[in-house]
Amino acid sequence: MTNSPNDITRRSFINKASRGLLATTAAEALLKTASAQLRVPDPPGKKLGWAIVGLGSLSINQILPAFAKCEKSKVVALVSGHPDKASKLALRYGVSPKNIYNYQNYDSIKDNPDVDIIYIVLPNGMHAEYTVRGHQAGKHVLSEKPMANTPAECQQMIDAARKANRKLMIAYRCRYEPYNREAIRIAQSGEIGPTQMILADAGFKMGDPTVWRLNRQLAGGGSLMDIGIYALNATRYLTGEEPTEVNAMIYSTPDDPRFKEVEEHVNFQLRFPSGILANCSSSYGYFHQSHFRVMGTEARLCMDPATWYSGLRMWIERGNTIEQKDLPEVDHFAAEMDHMSDCVMQNKQPLTPGEEGLRDLTLMAGIYEAARSGKTVKL
Ligand code: NAD
Repeated sequence: MTNSPNDITRRSFINKASRGLLATTAAEALLKTASAQLRVPDPPGKKLGWAIVGLGSLSINQILPAFAKCEKSKVVALVSGHPDKASKLALRYGVSPKNIYNYQNYDSIKDNPDVDIIYIVLPNGMHAEYTVRGHQAGKHVLSEKPMANTPAECQQMIDAARKANRKLMIAYRCRYEPYNREAIRIAQSGEIGPTQMILADAGFKMGDPTVWRLNRQLAGGGSLMDIGIYALNATRYLTGEEPTEVNAMIYSTPDDPRFKEVEEHVNFQLRFPSGILANCSSSYGYFHQSHFRVMGTEARLCMDPATWYSGLRMWIERGNTIEQKDLPEVDHFAAEMDHMSDCVMQNKQPLTPGEEGLRDLTLMAGIYEAARSGKTVKL
């Protein structure tokens, strides 16, 4: 192979530069620019095809935009009861019109080889049915939290996944983002001393009394099922233990049209096998918040907000010092979807499988029972 005059000129320039003959600031800058121009991104790897079921607020504002940040996942199908909305979103996200389904022809998704994974983003009371139908169609399923309305429904979903030999994952997005992952590492590493107690609160003020979240059949329960689940799940992942006992109290403002069917506030206390105690609350009445404190013998790990989509803050209070932890912010939904795609591609068990969702549902049933009976419930 012969060199072109240009190559020779460039090489001799680089040689001279490397021998120090042209080792000026300008030459260094030129070399840096040349190498920066040569850096090309890796070609895209394989991406699995996703179908999104239910085009409400979470799908439109978080999940569909998150695909742009995914490395292993792409949206290829939409399932909706509103054809106009689905067509508009299909156009926006490059989904073929032939891949738009409704709730009646949803099962025919089994004949669509473009779809590998189905993401259920419907009201809680519909997760079980659409997950089971998704598995029966031979697809892997990611279901939003809470997994379903009852432990029995969760078990049906797990059984359907097993029967179809397909993956089932629950969308506990906080397990896939750096702040909560680092909090788990710190809490369990001894850096703040052994954990003694955890405080965790999650809630927001519910407005519109007509939303499905206030309908028992569609929501399964009130603030506990919707948002208190974040506090409950955090106590479990921060301790790495499963609670053995629960106490609880519930209060709903009397005659408030929002709380005819589901509860407003829940306070619950958990006991863990190592002796760690947790005090938690969930609410549809208090100002939007999501925080936790892990109280160690030597220091306190705090996160506030702990579970919002972005802007998470974490710090450690030790003596008179406060150590702020700044970590990279990632898109929680892109991270969780890529984890699911990776598990399917590598045939691995997801970090948050159906069994994880079932555990939270069983615990929440225990919390409701403790509040109803006024007695400690052994789990
Ligand atoms: P939403 O009300 O905005 O959307 C629900 C969608 O379901 C709508 O498109 C609606 O048309 C459709 N739907 C179909 N049948 C329905 C029926 N019978 N009644 C009402 N809606 C029906 O709700 P959302 O906030 O998008 O929540 C959807 C799911 O996602 C819930 O399970 C919720 O708990 C979960 N969620 C998770 C997070 C998270 O951070 N992981 C955040 C918000 C919501």
